[in-house]
Amino acid sequence: MTGSRPGFPVRLTPAATAATRGRQPAVPSKPTVLMPETSVSAAVHARMVQRLAAQGLADRRVLDAMAAVQRHRFVDSALVNQAYEDTSLPIGLGQTISKPSVVARMIELLLAAPALSGKPQQRLGRVLEIGTGCGYQATVLSHVATEVYSIERLRGLHERARANLRFFRLATVHLMLGDGMLGYPKGAPYAGIIAAAGGESVPDAWIEQLAIGGRIVAPTHSSAGGQSLVVIDKTARGIDRRILEAVHFVPLKSGIA
Ligand code: SAH
Repeated sequence: MTGSRPGFPVRLTPAATAATRGRQPAVPSKPTVLMPETSVSAAVHARMVQRLAAQGLADRRVLDAMAAVQRHRFVDSALVNQAYEDTSLPIGLGQTISKPSVVARMIELLLAAPALSGKPQQRLGRVLEIGTGCGYQATVLSHVATEVYSIERLRGLHERARANLRFFRLATVHLMLGDGMLGYPKGAPYAGIIAAAGGESVPDAWIEQLAIGGRIVAPTHSSAGGQSLVVIDKTARGIDRRILEAVHFVPLKSGIA
């Protein structure tokens, strides 16, 4: 996936030479060097993955997926230099791509679904993502799940994600324009559902469309007025719900725009 296409350009210009001061240089100055870009982006990308591991991310499947997907391909060219920092970045239409550590944490939680417990190498089955945004997380998910359905309510971002994903030629990722509050019944039942936008509560439709043994990981409003990550497991015995750490996501909204 780190193919032969160039990454982002890094131009190293030589310091001012004697020529620029109106004299001939004694030694010809070196020409402007265009660095082999992939090696530059690959190094900062590798450091991002090392930081995730140092912060405690232990699931090999997630580390490999985070290492496989080049985040700089999903952000605006003015932001490529920040693509491997642990920060959320604007992707247009008032939305943001989540921090790499949050993407990794949520996918790690998703892979700890009851159906996969004790199977640290197995892929998840079909996954539904609510909020495609720029398509970054959907692409990461394609490395840990057999099939990814990702739904976005904003046409502009849905189309942007389509354009971004064309580079990766992923046959297992399906991008839909629609209201993810209703889930996506055509792909159900899902082994996992992951939301990139936070609502008042987890819609019943998501729980209905979850397979037995499956898990939902989603930000929802907390009683304290902020947002928290919620993990919902569906087992043969019923529904287990756990509230985890505080998070900060864009709002889950209904309808298409
Ligand atoms: N996972 C994305 C992050 C996108 S931000 C990425 O990797 O880039 C969250 C996205 O959720 C926004 O694009 C927002 O438009 C979308 N969203 C909010 N409510 C939605 C809904 N009901 N259905 C589908 N998408 C929704």
